[in-house]
Amino acid sequence: MKVYINGTFYDEADAKISVFDHGLLYGDGVFEGIRSYGGKVFRLDEHINRLYDSAKAIALEIPMEPAAMARAVEDSLRENGIEDGYVRLVVTRGVGTLGLDPEKCSEPQVIIIAATIALYPDEFYEKGLEIVTASTIRNHPAALNPRIKSLNYLNNIMAKVEGRQAGCVEALMLNHKGEVAECTGDNIFVIKEGVVSTPSIDAGILEGITRNAVIELLREAGHEVRELALTRHDVFVADECFLTGTAAEVIPVVKVDDRLIGEGKPGTVTQEVRRRFMELARA
Ligand code: PMP
Repeated sequence: MKVYINGTFYDEADAKISVFDHGLLYGDGVFEGIRSYGGKVFRLDEHINRLYDSAKAIALEIPMEPAAMARAVEDSLRENGIEDGYVRLVVTRGVGTLGLDPEKCSEPQVIIIAATIALYPDEFYEKGLEIVTASTIRNHPAALNPRIKSLNYLNNIMAKVEGRQAGCVEALMLNHKGEVAECTGDNIFVIKEGVVSTPSIDAGILEGITRNAVIELLREAGHEVRELALTRHDVFVADECFLTGTAAEVIPVVKVDDRLIGEGKPGTVTQEVRRRFMELARA
């Protein structure tokens, strides 16, 4: 594997950054997870825009133009001969002192790792996931806004720990108001009597690129999609539930906190959305 660091490709063993990098010392940086299908990167512009927005929000100036960044992502896939892959794009604050001061950091470090994909096993897509609500709430938007895809993922990791302890691979996170926010690495949708609902961005969530693509697909197919405040009650009594994310794509949820969702099987709309999403991604 060849890893891109600041414009140069290194062998995996030589792809190293400093232990004084504030990305490591403080989680000070931003990232993206991107997919390519059949050699074509899915919604690359959206990922690049979100990366630059995240960086702007944490006052980190990325030392290259967005168009060059997009090319670097494509070059990384090509360099590694990957058609169906997962790209991890990371920009750290760079090497600094042991203090917090970002002004003492040198150049931001741009790292691109192009790998093959590690999807959930097929069984999860066929049978659907069982998830639990974590007691760890999502970051308050006035603290670290969940719209920022920062290298500090401890909030999500703590909820993931709770999910794992309950024997689940995902966990539902509520916001500071007790409303449904999102899962640790995926957005959530519910369907009740034909109407699709998903938390709005101001619930304090990451504006998922898969989420946005799925909303478009559903609306094109004539479904009503509402972005609004949801409670756990709305999830418990839903006919169908599914999650969206770059790695997971569209994945059904059949049980939440021991409540069966609908009939406890992936729903028809969920299956239709998954099929349409895969068609779009592979188009
Ligand atoms: N929410 C969180 C917290 C995430 O980390 C992610 C990305 N894994 C998502 C939602 C889904 O976003 P996307 O569809 O852009 O991958």
